[in-house]
Amino acid sequence: MSIRIETNNCIGCGRCTDVCPGNLLFLRDHKATIRDARDCWGCTACVKECPRNAIFFTLEATLGGAGGKLFAHDSADELTWELQLADGTEQRITVNKKQANAY
Ligand code: SF4
Ligand code: SF4
Repeated sequence: MSIRIETNNCIGCGRCTDVCPGNLLFLRDHKATIRDARDCWGCTACVKECPRNAIFFTLEATLGGAGGKLFAHDSADELTWELQLADGTEQRITVNKKQANAY
């Protein structure tokens, strides 16, 4: 599992570069770029932080099927994970952040 950056959606806000604990992300020509995707350990911080859904995880065959994509939609109270499978089906899981201990 590794991140991908859809540069067409990136507005160069730099929020992902600020939150990556490994300092793997940087801006090049006002677009987010990852130094080496192999160094990403999948903490999901950048996926949750991006306001434009420009960063997502690509899933392996054992995690939702090859070609699947995992997006995050973060709001004040909820975090919604959106799984887009290669066959076109979608699943959503919403977590109430104020009741995180219940999960
Ligand atoms: S998932 Fe975590 S480690 Fe990987 S690039 Fe994003 S913030 Fe950095
Ligand atoms: S948080 Fe999203 S929009 Fe902002 S720089 Fe990173 S990828 Fe681009």
